[in-house]
Amino acid sequence: MAEAMVKTIGGEGLDDAHNHLQDPLLAGRWPEVREALAAVPVRRAAVNGTCEADWPAVERLAADCPWVHPSFGLHPWKVKERSGGWLRRLRALLERHPGVGVGEIGLDRWIEGHDLEEQAAVFRSQLELASELERPATLHCLRAWGRMREEVDKGPRPRPGLLLHAYGGPAEMVESFVAAGAYFSFNAAFLEPRKERTREAFTAVPLDRLLIETDAPAMPPPEALDRWGWRDPASGRRVNHPASLGLALESLARIRKMDTKELARVLRDNFSSLFGAGG
Ligand SMILES: [Zn+2]
Repeated sequence: MAEAMVKTIGGEGLDDAHNHLQDPLLAGRWPEVREALAAVPVRRAAVNGTCEADWPAVERLAADCPWVHPSFGLHPWKVKERSGGWLRRLRALLERHPGVGVGEIGLDRWIEGHDLEEQAAVFRSQLELASELERPATLHCLRAWGRMREEVDKGPRPRPGLLLHAYGGPAEMVESFVAAGAYFSFNAAFLEPRKERTREAFTAVPLDRLLIETDAPAMPPPEALDRWGWRDPASGRRVNHPASLGLALESLARIRKMDTKELARVLRDNFSSLFGAGG
């Protein structure tokens, strides 16, 4: 299967701009996951670490799979878990792997017990690091779009660009984020009927700033559209299968009134522009 995945590099296929393949919910079923990804085919994946505890798993996955583009970062949900030396560790990791990204980092006022100022300080120091080392940065934002725009406007901003993963902000903010060098990734979870405004915002994104993603194992598509129906055996909660990327492509093509093949070609170019062309 490893050979099959590698063969798709440079050819047809889809690129997942944001997921967490290192998560035990997926890594625990790795042979099945790989086979399903090869069938889509998923050509490349930007795999994001979220905390010091999962950085080594992302590093191992990238070493095993040349189609994985790793990013390392401290997620806003994990700020309280960080060690005293977290930023030094992150810098060392990024310096050890030239070209890898910074992510997943961001701001989140949705999560219970959040401390936005603490999150913002952690976010800023990672954005500064990404800018200094000229790495693409992947941003998470929930219910904090005004503050996110302020932070991004203030800078510094990494030269390769920013990814606003699963962009759920208003259409009116798209223009200013574009000016700041942002890309926007569409997630099939936005097919929930109540997400109409989010789907609409994706009509305002310039074609050369669009990407698709799964955020797997998070953000499953609406249950009726979920071909896999995977669940976390411990919690019973739904698990997003990373091969749901095909659904993200089809639905974004409908929203943009484009041919899926033509859109897939544009998305491959956009992925390379942000994350680099390498496998
Ligand atoms: Zn994520």
